[in-house]
Amino acid sequence: MSDASIQPAFRVERSSVHGNGVFARRDIAPGERIVEYAGREITWEEAQIRAEIQGGPHNHTFFFSLANGNVIDGGDHGNEARFINHSCEPNCEAIEGEDGRIFIYALHDIKQDEELSYSYPLIYEGRHTPAIKKEFACRCGALNCTGTMLAPKPRKRKPKIKPQPFADLVPAAAAVQSPQPAALG
Ligand SMILES: [Zn+2]
Repeated sequence: MSDASIQPAFRVERSSVHGNGVFARRDIAPGERIVEYAGREITWEEAQIRAEIQGGPHNHTFFFSLANGNVIDGGDHGNEARFINHSCEPNCEAIEGEDGRIFIYALHDIKQDEELSYSYPLIYEGRHTPAIKKEFACRCGALNCTGTMLAPKPRKRKPKIKPQPFADLVPAAAAVQSPQPAALG
């Protein structure tokens, strides 16, 4: 058995993209399961409370929403996976299994020392002010870079099954204050 098979396939380092990043320690094959997105599973309500306690939206990028409506808080008993940066042209993807655990998989061939990334449009329910937009500017450098990590403002529809981390949670009272088109049937 080679060392490569027992060592983690990645390491955490400062990234030129954003804060810390996760880098390949060795070549990684397409489809390889790299790491679990670990953290404590909490309810949406608990996530709202934690978001309020922590303050600004920049602190909430460790939340990862699950299909069952709960949230993985990567900042609570999490691991290196929470440092994987967003890219508009990612080399990894996050997939939630039927057991509600999220794993990061290689989308294609990844060379040693390449930074790992996946695409996670952040859902921020507050106003997309210039300060917020600046906070979440994307610097991934991809040719198709959208310039932002923020998803377009969510429309009123059922949440997608695909897991998506989100940037912030606003109190329910604030969320319903935004003007809604009359939809009386
Ligand atoms: Zn980008």
